[in-house]
Amino acid sequence: MGRAAVLTGPKTLEIQRFPLRGIRPDEILVKVEACGICGTDIHCYNSDPFGLAPVVLGHEGTGEVMQVGSEVKMDSVGKPVQVGDKIVTSILENSQECMIAKYNPLKSNLCDDLKVYGLLPDEPDNHFNGYFGEYLIIRPGSSFFVVNDMSLELRCLIEPAAVVCHAYQRAKDVGMRLNFRARVVVQGCGPIGLLMIAVLRTAGVNNIIAIDGNPDRLKLAAELGADETLNYKDYSGIDDLAAKVESLTKGVGAHAGFQVTGVPQAFANLFKCIRRGGGICEVGHFVDGGECSINPHQDICRKEITVTGSWVYNSFEYPNAYHFLQRAERIGLPVASLVTHKFPLDRIQDAFDVNLRQEGVKVVVEA
Ligand SMILES: [Zn+2]
Repeated sequence: MGRAAVLTGPKTLEIQRFPLRGIRPDEILVKVEACGICGTDIHCYNSDPFGLAPVVLGHEGTGEVMQVGSEVKMDSVGKPVQVGDKIVTSILENSQECMIAKYNPLKSNLCDDLKVYGLLPDEPDNHFNGYFGEYLIIRPGSSFFVVNDMSLELRCLIEPAAVVCHAYQRAKDVGMRLNFRARVVVQGCGPIGLLMIAVLRTAGVNNIIAIDGNPDRLKLAAELGADETLNYKDYSGIDDLAAKVESLTKGVGAHAGFQVTGVPQAFANLFKCIRRGGGICEVGHFVDGGECSINPHQDICRKEITVTGSWVYNSFEYPNAYHFLQRAERIGLPVASLVTHKFPLDRIQDAFDVNLRQEGVKVVVEA
């Protein structure tokens, strides 16, 4: 038997006990250690816009291998896997029906049928499909990684770190300038925005401007590598704020901007902070927040701005995220301090409440 927190309906989490079935030769049994709460979990909890229930949530998780099926020999990068190893999981094998996943594996993040543990429908014979439970059964075709030499906090941050590593790569792929001397704006300092700043700093960008409305988060932004922190509430409007960014960027605006809020107007505003020939990477709108208006002449055409979106990650980006977090810590960025709260599984409701009140940064549930 094992416990799991089941989201049984809107805003209803129940700790339930389930029998744990034996694993098959191609599966792995994991004893869950901890899992961060993600914005996606909050949208599920509020049933807005996702209505998945019943479900055991939790996809930013990690645990220890308890049992390895006889057919399983190694993880997704060929490291041997054995009992006692610490692991993280990424995307489950993509649907065979999806043309993108089939013919353009480098774009498999755009598969219509992307699956991760913690966002899978409950099954009659196995309820351990998410990290907000005591166990997780890894099924065949899943990508997973042995990460023994990493603290619990960093293991919980690998998933959001993969999101920002992907965004950084997208920006580079479309030609955005992100060299040492680039001046870069990160708009929004939630967990993803803060990790975005840490990625840019770790990659050597020497001029990072963070924008947010929360002084505590701006303080963390500075610790994670932002050179300038701007509280937009100190400015009368976007023109005033953009003028400040201009004054910090030799009067021309930033080379690049990462948009990491879920506010559509914030996306429109970011154009005002970008110089001619610069670029914007949109990372924040992982749910539909509605529309905003931009001025195609002023904002895009005349400035010849490059705009790109970034959507989750591919499983092969996990090793990259792992190395980012390791290096970030080694150069003294306090990435682990993004985990500001820890609650035991029995108190998962308190953990969600902290997150709903937007306190702290990354709230973790320990099994
Ligand atoms: Zn997430």
